[in-house]
Amino acid sequence: AGHALSVRNLSVEFPSGRGRLLAIDDVSFDVAPGEILGLVGESGAGKSLTGSAIIGLIEPPGRIASGEILLAGRRIDNLDDTQMRHVRGREIGMIFQDPRTSLNPLFTVSRQLTDTIREHRPMSATAARQEALRLLEMVGIPAAAQRLDSYPHEFSGGMCQRVVIALALAAGPRLIIADEPTTALDVSTQAQIMKVMKDLCKSSGSAMMLITHSMGVIAALADRVAVMYAGRIVEIGPVADVILHPRHPYSKGLIASIPSLEQKMARFSQIDGAMPRLGRWPGGCSFHPRCPSRMDVCSTVRPELTEKGNAMMACWLDAS
Ligand code: SF4
Ligand code: MG
Repeated sequence: AGHALSVRNLSVEFPSGRGRLLAIDDVSFDVAPGEILGLVGESGAGKSLTGSAIIGLIEPPGRIASGEILLAGRRIDNLDDTQMRHVRGREIGMIFQDPRTSLNPLFTVSRQLTDTIREHRPMSATAARQEALRLLEMVGIPAAAQRLDSYPHEFSGGMCQRVVIALALAAGPRLIIADEPTTALDVSTQAQIMKVMKDLCKSSGSAMMLITHSMGVIAALADRVAVMYAGRIVEIGPVADVILHPRHPYSKGLIASIPSLEQKMARFSQIDGAMPRLGRWPGGCSFHPRCPSRMDVCSTVRPELTEKGNAMMACWLDAS
């Protein structure tokens, strides 16, 4: 209790000719109100799929094979489509990489905001327009009153993402899921958007699950971080602990790869090899084929998450 979001032993599977593929394998974490939990890892680790599972939008034939998802203590993984659509709009706000996919090019931003507001909160048209203006000002749209009746194409990419953040907040959600929210933006805009997102979580009390491949974004924005590899969490803890003192060899590699602004291309050069194909995870520790510290036990026995100081990690190094 007390958690905005609890994910308990979540597994997601896809059927295949050679049996089922476990794309997400026994993942558990909590997010507190007002807290930003980062989910970080290379693409293909299962981060976005974890987000899709929470919002009930896994593409069939994929499905939740086991586990529970609770929003403020109430299970949402067993709701029907109508109930889930209501949860998505009212209780979970979403921010995706490309802001234009979340906006309707044919409607003004005030129309999109007031529709969302009135769908979830009983309000007159005038009051909803006032609320739309308040939201646009809150996310830092300059001269918002003059821009209420603009169309999405009249905004820059960064301003569009601010509108999307305002839309995600319009229903007063308990949880915001942001999937690579700044990846499509230029570097200086990224920093501004991250600040807006952080301030809004702290002031509104909404929890946020922040999905990103970038440890730099995690360092700037998240309170806690879960490092995902091959469908599992391999390390989870406060950002300060995991970034300054990463223990898991994969976390160490990700942190060594935090790109400086000029060296974006150097990403992940510190970790040899590639993420295995979805669900075709190696036995034992899935990271063993790429791990510079692997031992004999690593290829045969899977390490489970265990407490190490303030964090938890799944690795046979210093197992005690
Ligand atoms: Fe490396 Fe072994 Fe730890 Fe896996 S369990 S990360 S292979 S040392
Ligand atoms: Mg993704």
